[in-house]
Amino acid sequence: MEKRDIIIIGAGPAGLTTAIYSARADLKPLVIEGYASGGQLMITTEVENFPGFSEAITGPELISEMRKQAEKFGAEFLTTDVTKVELKDDVKIVYDGETAYETKTLVISTGATANLLGIESETRLMGRGVSACATCDGFFFRDKTICVIGGGDSAMEEATFLTKFASKVYLIHRREEFRASKIMIKKAEDNPKIEFVLNALIEEVVGEEVVTGIKIKDKISGKTSTIDLDGVFLAIGHTPSTKLFKDIIKTDEKGYIITGNEHGKTATNIPGVFACGDVQDSRYQQAITAAASGCMAALDAEKYLEEI
Ligand code: NAP
Repeated sequence: MEKRDIIIIGAGPAGLTTAIYSARADLKPLVIEGYASGGQLMITTEVENFPGFSEAITGPELISEMRKQAEKFGAEFLTTDVTKVELKDDVKIVYDGETAYETKTLVISTGATANLLGIESETRLMGRGVSACATCDGFFFRDKTICVIGGGDSAMEEATFLTKFASKVYLIHRREEFRASKIMIKKAEDNPKIEFVLNALIEEVVGEEVVTGIKIKDKISGKTSTIDLDGVFLAIGHTPSTKLFKDIIKTDEKGYIITGNEHGKTATNIPGVFACGDVQDSRYQQAITAAASGCMAALDAEKYLEEI
C-alpha cells in the first residue's frame, strides 16, 4: 500500500493551498482531486475580490494557477473520487475503489454543492431548462427569458452574468430582504434586464418536455401566478460534501465539519484529520477564506506530524 505523510481530498482553493504549503514543507502531498475538481470556482464567472488580481480573473483560471503552483513544488494529483475512508487508528486509509492509500494525516477539503428546491417538476426538468450552474448553461439562453431563484450573492452574481445572454432575467426571492452584499444587489438593481419578484414562493416549474414557465405564490396576498419563461437557474445555497465521513467526523446540524481543538483551528474530532474550506465553513464561503483555512490545515498537519 502506498504510504504518505499527507493526503488531501478535494482540490478547490482550500485543498490547493494546503497542497502548496505542505509541498513547500517537503511533505510530498497527494491530492485526490475528484472527477469534478476545482470546486465552486469552476462554476464562477469573474472573481473580482481575490487579492492580487486588480483585473478580474475567472474562477477556472484562478484554480488552474493554484494547481500549477502546487505541482511546481511537488504536489501529486490523482483525478479520481475517494470511495471510502478508515480513520480509526493513527494511520488513516483512503480508498479509491480497490486501491488503498495509507496516510499519517488527512486533510478534507471536499467543499459544498448547490442546493435544489426539492420539488418534482424541478428534478424532471433538470437539464431541460432547469440548471444550478449559470456559467455552464447560460449560453443556451441567448435572447430568452429566464429566472434566477435566491437572494444571496450567488443569485445576484448569476442574474447579472445571465443578462449577457438572456433578454430578460427575473430574480425571484422568497423574502424582501437579501443576504447578498449591497454592492451586488445594486449591480443587479441597476441592470435594466433584471426584474425583482419578491415574497414569491416557488410552487412549480411549468413544462412537459422543457421549461415554459414558473408558478409562484405571493407570500403576502396568497395569490398564485405563472411567469412565462424558458429557463430556471437555482442559486439557493449549498450543502457541505461530507457523505464519505458520515458518522465518523463530527459535524454541526447543517452537516458542516466541526473544527478547532488543541491540534489547531482546522483539527477535527479525529487526531490527524483536518478540514478546511467550505466543508467546514457555513459562514464566509469565500475563495480567500477557503485558501486561508487551507494554509492553516497544512500548518496544523505539519505540527501534528512533528508531534507524533
Ligand atoms: P446564501 O447566501 O446561503 O443564499 C441562499 C439564498 O437562497 C437565500 O437568499 C435564501 O433565502 C435562498 N433560499 C434557500 N433555500 C431556498 C428555498 N428552498 N427556496 C427559495 N429560496 C431559498 O447562498 P449563496 O448565495 O450561494 O452564497 C453562499 C456564500 O458564498 C455566501 O457567503 C456568499 O457571500 C458567498 N458568495 C460570494 C460571492 C462573491 O463575493 N463574488 C459570490 C457568490 C457567493 P433566505 O435569505 O430567505 O434564507
